[in-house]
Amino acid sequence: MELIPHVIDGRETESRDGARFPTVDPYTRRPWAEAALGGRDEAALAVTAARRAFDEGPWPRMGYAERGAILHRLADLMDAHLDELALADTTDMGKPVADTRGKDVPRSASNIRFFADHARLSAAEAFPMDSGHHAYTRFEPAGVVAAIAPWNFPLMLETWKIAPALAWGNTVVLKPAEQTPASASLLARLALEAGMPPGVLNVVHGHGPGSAGEALTTDPRVDRITFTGESATGRAIAAAAAANLTPVSFELGGKGANLVFADADLDLAVSWSIKAIFTNAGQVCLAGSRLYVQRDIYQEFVDRFTAAAEALIAGDPKDPATQFGPLASEEHHAKVTSYLDTVPADGGKIVTGGPGEGLFVHPTIVLDAPPTARVCREEIFGPVAVVTPFDTEADAVAAANDTPYGLNAMVFTENLSRAHRVSAALRAGTVWTNCFFIRDLRAPFGGVGDSGIGREGGTYSREFFTEPKAVVMAV
Ligand code: NAD
Repeated sequence: MELIPHVIDGRETESRDGARFPTVDPYTRRPWAEAALGGRDEAALAVTAARRAFDEGPWPRMGYAERGAILHRLADLMDAHLDELALADTTDMGKPVADTRGKDVPRSASNIRFFADHARLSAAEAFPMDSGHHAYTRFEPAGVVAAIAPWNFPLMLETWKIAPALAWGNTVVLKPAEQTPASASLLARLALEAGMPPGVLNVVHGHGPGSAGEALTTDPRVDRITFTGESATGRAIAAAAAANLTPVSFELGGKGANLVFADADLDLAVSWSIKAIFTNAGQVCLAGSRLYVQRDIYQEFVDRFTAAAEALIAGDPKDPATQFGPLASEEHHAKVTSYLDTVPADGGKIVTGGPGEGLFVHPTIVLDAPPTARVCREEIFGPVAVVTPFDTEADAVAAANDTPYGLNAMVFTENLSRAHRVSAALRAGTVWTNCFFIRDLRAPFGGVGDSGIGREGGTYSREFFTEPKAVVMAV
């Protein structure tokens, strides 16, 4: 069986003890490859390599243009290996190849290009002082970055972390999710081919608690931890990082509210609402899992939304026509279906969807669930939309904000004043009006409350991945 290796100090390696773990294709439910199973030793070796590459190597000392050229070569190589990278994520997690090939891998390459250019073109601050002194800011790389990633957008979220870290001159140890190891090793191989010095981008495979992941969060030689994953894991990592006062950036769970007003363009609202909850089988932190629809159009919306959900093409993720794949793993399938079991007892009803063949859960719509129902309060991370009517704008905003999460929200209205007013009133890191998932990489990305700590994107990434230094000169 194919081996997915660690990449440490420029070399593809197995673990010291030769341990491996199977990576399972959720569509066939059979292992399709084995990954090297790293633990504390491999994490420590990778940090040693990254530390040496940072303290002694050329990467942090290069000009932005030279580093940028290597990053651009990497992005070009990702384009050239589009099929291989797309297939790696599709096979590891069951995401339709139409999405990995059409969106995730191109967006991953564009993450790399964007941050290469952003770092090169960033202007530094300068402050001519009344006293005649001159103060300016140097954005110096922070050092060794531990990047810990989830399985739902493997390559895309890994590059979202790695690209700014590298562009600003840091070195990186990446730990991909154990469900999706394949694309990360390919990426590290391509980085070496692009001319990135050994030790600059290291990949260690393994688990979180008591394993490679936890080792990265407690290693005092790590200068930054950037993590995307569950809020509960964020709490564990924050506690681990506290011992060394290591700065963290967290992108965590969500329970996105999607507000559809009676004055909305209904075609637009239905089509974006479908994408917002059923893309990637709902395994999206930004998923619009709580839909609030104004009562005048509630029934019409529900009818059209249900018909569109039932029309999604489920099937083999490797078939380019497939729009909807299985859930990513046996454990995750068990978690999502356990939420469906709570619906009747909590007072709701499932009008379409539910478990299908294998690891499929069909696009599921729940009506009549009270706000206290678990499907309304907890992140299911699956294709389950709860639709609830509302009467007034104030009711809609109150319902949307009634959550410990605050990653994102959507508003559908043709009333411009309402769009601005509601966007301001929603407690969320991102609000989309009459669209969803559109990103400008210069804008802040992150969440409030249980959805995260800090922001990444553009200058927000620069603040996190550098140590801004003030220099004050007498003139
Ligand atoms: P997870 O928290 O279970 O795992 C994420 C990563 O953390 C994995 O690599 C895992 O091995 C590692 N990990 C687990 N415990 C650890 C520990 N104690 N120390 C160090 N590392 C540890 O999350 P997941 O199931 O892979 O991903 C799904 C979650 O991610 C959902 O909650 C989703 O909302 C969230 N997510 C958030 C965003 C965002 O941008 N806010 C994006 C994607 C996913």
